[in-house]
Amino acid sequence: MSAPAADVVIVGGGLVGAATAYFLAREGARCVVVERDGIASHASGFAYAALGTFDEEGMADDAHFAAAALGMRLHREIADSLVEETGVNVEFRERPELSLAFDERESEALQLPQGWERKRRAWEMGDQRHAVTWLDADEARRVEPRINPAAVGALYTEGTCDVNALRLTRALAMAAEQNGASVLTAEVTGLIRDAGRVRGVTLQDGSAIHCGTVVIAAGPWSGEASDWLGAPIRMQPWKGQMLRVRLPGPPMRPSVVGGGCFASTKPDGLTWVGPTFEDAGIDETVTDAARRQIIEGVSRNIPALADCAVVMHTACVRPLSADRKLVLGRIPGLEGAYAATGGGRLGIMLGPAMALLTAELIVSGKTSVPLDEFDPGRFAE
Ligand SMILES: Cc1cc2nc3c(=O)[nH]c(=O)nc-3n(C[C@H](O)[C@H](O)[C@H](O)COP(=O)(O)OP(=O)(O)OC[C@H]3O[C@@H](n4cnc5c(N)ncnc54)[C@H](O)[C@@H]3O)c2cc1C
Repeated sequence: MSAPAADVVIVGGGLVGAATAYFLAREGARCVVVERDGIASHASGFAYAALGTFDEEGMADDAHFAAAALGMRLHREIADSLVEETGVNVEFRERPELSLAFDERESEALQLPQGWERKRRAWEMGDQRHAVTWLDADEARRVEPRINPAAVGALYTEGTCDVNALRLTRALAMAAEQNGASVLTAEVTGLIRDAGRVRGVTLQDGSAIHCGTVVIAAGPWSGEASDWLGAPIRMQPWKGQMLRVRLPGPPMRPSVVGGGCFASTKPDGLTWVGPTFEDAGIDETVTDAARRQIIEGVSRNIPALADCAVVMHTACVRPLSADRKLVLGRIPGLEGAYAATGGGRLGIMLGPAMALLTAELIVSGKTSVPLDEFDPGRFAE
């Protein structure tokens, strides 16, 4: 059995795959997104989706900052264009952030960042035009009265944003379909190759889709494509659990962070708290231990969170690469093969940029941000 031919097959219907189809379809490419579990059914459908801060040490180089700046610009643009194209409001909004300090050492670290933290702050204040203000304890409590009275001060950052990752991913897939792309529920099991170039993909039911270009956007599962590609993609999946709780009283106005924990009220009225960072391979099971750890961590910042009703507990896997850098570009030695993964804990912020850069590379061979740093060929011995 043979499925119809396409120009480009995209393996994976998370944010990166859906956005790649969106940008390629706008250029007239016939795309098929092959997704085995449904659009946005893994991390892209459950991430909190904070945008605008860059909190990943291993990515703190100019190439990543350039990709993040492009990602932020695209988020603002597509939030508007998707309403026109699909009628879907992706809930992109500005969301200030209050980072709490509980002692002198934490206050100093927030006010006088060192090393990569300093570079990150410079990027946030420059490219992202964030307004960063130090608040004493009383001022911080005026912004969010429920913070722990033991907090000695807080860094208040305005200009940070968030989005509804589930809606965004689905709307991008929908808009891509309106421009001629299709979404197929199936599992890709391998590539058809001939004379050093891609000729198609094989599916689990034994059928095939013939195409000249394949994009591996399979998130933390991208490493499984190494054998098909004949080139290693080394992933180090990073599990993350979150809770959605019912915090009594009005919605929190800022997101509150401290001690590696985060709490913020989404437009659905639920307060999202977490996350965990677990080296657990590809594992999407929720655990009681994580639930306790999250509640303990966030209630140090906001004591009222200790007794809230938990409405939802989610576990997903972040697509982190083995060296924590993006994996973006041509696969060496196999014409027509590309990888677009490795967004790690920043994959929603970076996703639209990863997708646009992939589409640019496929359509014109040139990209608006240099991709050398992200070369998928770097994992070959
Ligand atoms: C708890 C948590 C909180 C997060 N918060 C944020 C945040 O605040 N800000 C931010 O920027 N990022 C955040 N992230 C990270 C972000 O969610 C991810 O980086 C991003 O969603 C990855 O998107 P993706 O498209 O690369 O992968 P995924 O969303 O994992 O999609 C990959 C898809 O490929 C499919 N697939 C795999 N193999 C095959 C195959 N062989 N055939 C067909 N389909 C296949 C899978 O089914 C999956 O749907 C968070 C992640 C977690 C877990």
